[in-house]
Amino acid sequence: MPSYIDPEGFEPGQLQRKGFGLKDQIRDDLTRDYYSKIVEQIIASDYEHHDKGISFHLAKSFGFCYGVDRAVDMAYETHKRFPDRKIYLTAEIIHNPRVSENLEKMGVEFLTDYQKVQREDVVLLPAFGATMGQIERLREKGCLLVDTTCGSVLSVWKRVEGYAEDGFTSVIHGKYYHEETQATSSRVLGYPKGTYLVVLNMDETRYVCDYIRHGGDREAFLKKFSKGVSAGFNPDEDLKKVGVANQTTMLMSESLAIAAEIKKAMIDRYGQPHVDAHFRNFDTICSATEDRQVAMLELTKKPLDIMMVVGGFNSSNTANLSAIASKAATAYHISDVSDLISNSQIRHKPAGKFDPIVTDNWLPAGPLQIGITSGASTPNQVLGGVIERILSFR
Ligand code: SF4
Repeated sequence: MPSYIDPEGFEPGQLQRKGFGLKDQIRDDLTRDYYSKIVEQIIASDYEHHDKGISFHLAKSFGFCYGVDRAVDMAYETHKRFPDRKIYLTAEIIHNPRVSENLEKMGVEFLTDYQKVQREDVVLLPAFGATMGQIERLREKGCLLVDTTCGSVLSVWKRVEGYAEDGFTSVIHGKYYHEETQATSSRVLGYPKGTYLVVLNMDETRYVCDYIRHGGDREAFLKKFSKGVSAGFNPDEDLKKVGVANQTTMLMSESLAIAAEIKKAMIDRYGQPHVDAHFRNFDTICSATEDRQVAMLELTKKPLDIMMVVGGFNSSNTANLSAIASKAATAYHISDVSDLISNSQIRHKPAGKFDPIVTDNWLPAGPLQIGITSGASTPNQVLGGVIERILSFR
């Protein structure tokens, strides 16, 4: 650790896990950047809005979650507290382009080259956390780290660390390329026998379960999971004792089913009386994700013509809301107002796909019932802008 005296008294490499007590001073900036009058009006009207032949039905739980609220507050407070210091972000603080754009306008830069970081700089760690390797490298630089990692993500870390300590492999239901899953899986590597395996969905889980039951081709297994497995993973040994956890924003019903499937495989392999020695589980879907998915399921009970799901295309929780919506109606997952190209064209990401597409004739004429929600990282101002733009097409 470099010997460096911070002029403001921060320790070199300090991990600052709370704000700077500047909430009152950032309030106006947050209102300017994220508040929406129309969304407040809709909430006050029992989550409905009727205008120009369109009825909007807003999900009862939507938009910024507690973790995102906190992360955005901390980022704005950091900017207020250190107007003269360089402020970096290791990745998007949350997965929303509008928020990233606002931070960039404030001078916050994405960190693409760790060599650039100076001891007097400030680095923001995102709400979904950073890997142990990233944190260690930055602490060695001696810069101040403002850690906005959400408490619900920290709970997952505790869970997988406990598994690693007890010699259980963490099987993480998540996306190996998602920063949260990368950060979570990195936590087990601090333990001598820490191992992890990331499964994306039920298909991958069944493959793992087959291996648990009957063994299989080790090389083929490692090839299949090459991007989501700890170095040196040996499925013949490391699947004997597993603990299940999940990325906090996955589809809750799928996470529960995956844990049940793995437990069944362990019972088949080792017998019911021994299952506790081979299987552990803790549902780590956060309550904000759960609330938004439950609200979406409620919304799908209404007779709707279309569903609008608003949130970053790389936002996992938004993608899962879109997956639920698309089972009930024609659903459009859009990222921002600009995706509403015109009353005849929309750019949107179909559920389960990676890339957005453009669809023609998306907005039917005549009276319309539209269900609408937004992901946990979507500002109300974006949601309100979407509603206003759709109304402007009438
Ligand atoms: S979605 Fe859940 S885990 Fe992620 S920031 Fe929000 S509350 Fe935290």
